[in-house]
Amino acid sequence: MKKNYLFTPGPTPIPEEVLLEMAKPIFHHRTPQFRELLAETNQLLKEVFQTNNHVYTFASSGTGAMEAAFVNIVSPGDEIIVVSGGKFGARFVEFAQVFGVISHTLDVPWGASVDIHEIDSLLRQHPNVKAVFTSLCETSTGVCFPVEDIARIVRGTNAVLVVDAISGLCADVLKTDEWGVDIVIGGSQKGLMTPPGLSFLTLSQKAWALAGTSRLPKYYFDIKKYRKAGDACDTPFTPATGLVIALRKALGLIVAEGVQVCNERHARLARATRAAMEALGLRLFAERPSNALTAVKIPDQLDAKTFITYLRDELGAVMAGGQGQLKNKIFRIAHLGYQNEFDLLGGIGAVEKALLHMGHTFDLGAGLKSFQMMINSDTLVNIQ
Ligand SMILES: *Cc1c(COP(=O)(O)O)cnc(C)c1O
Repeated sequence: MKKNYLFTPGPTPIPEEVLLEMAKPIFHHRTPQFRELLAETNQLLKEVFQTNNHVYTFASSGTGAMEAAFVNIVSPGDEIIVVSGGKFGARFVEFAQVFGVISHTLDVPWGASVDIHEIDSLLRQHPNVKAVFTSLCETSTGVCFPVEDIARIVRGTNAVLVVDAISGLCADVLKTDEWGVDIVIGGSQKGLMTPPGLSFLTLSQKAWALAGTSRLPKYYFDIKKYRKAGDACDTPFTPATGLVIALRKALGLIVAEGVQVCNERHARLARATRAAMEALGLRLFAERPSNALTAVKIPDQLDAKTFITYLRDELGAVMAGGQGQLKNKIFRIAHLGYQNEFDLLGGIGAVEKALLHMGHTFDLGAGLKSFQMMINSDTLVNIQ
């Protein structure tokens, strides 16, 4: 009997309580019932995004909110800085090309972190830069960028800092207001434990001031329409009601756990997963690894496609391969969202079984043991 387990960095598993919310009858959105749902959801979103500013919700995948962030703050011919160290960072550079904006791109080798002094010197070289775009977790490489340090630099300039936290949110620490991050972008199908289809955007006052000057065309993603409707606890267009109902439940679970505790759970799972992979003789890919996922190099003698397909089709453990230049070079295990240590023990067991199947030489059980040692290190110290 095959069971399926999602270890992908989006979509992620959905808690049963959240799934059941979506089985309830649909109701109309221009009603007090919906306004109450929205008000409650918005309050929970602020807690999870760690901001006092409003968090706006779009009916789109994460990329919609990335595009919304872009088109609402810049104008044709404007200059921006993009920290691009993977597929998702590169998406902002693609926006710049499409919308006629000049990107001073900081090309970070995939898998590496960013040297913040380079951002500082780019900002000094280009004092007219309107915005700096970066990811929190660059999902294609598993790197977590040092957003707190980047924010410290950008805060002292006229530029706004835009952070794509679609996969990082809930897993990696992100103190939006405390660090002075101006715009945070989120998506429903990653740490937020909700199906794909919603994206999020929050803007600081500094970002709103810039939004007032933006001349790029926009209609569905015009943030001013959302602000106007939001003041009346409403939405400018039909909201994805069924997903918002699910989201409220999922956010409630996150807030009940506590955002910090949730971050710590992800950190523990990430640390133990990395230890497990190294114990199997595998090499890690990310220089500054995210808590959302672990990127692992695939040994040369192993056929990447066969490995990942075997995991998915024979074992039911769905993991992600590499994207773009990393195709067939890495695989990625997510420990993101609704995951605990026993889920990951299953995932690591599956990796061991797939390695065994492919005739790879390693110490069977070493990954599981290492994971157990690391995840239980507090208890083991107490016993000694
Ligand atoms: C998943 C992801 C996106 C894209 O989200 P879609 O929902 O596929 O549009 C963007 N950025 C990062 C960092 C992601 O992990």
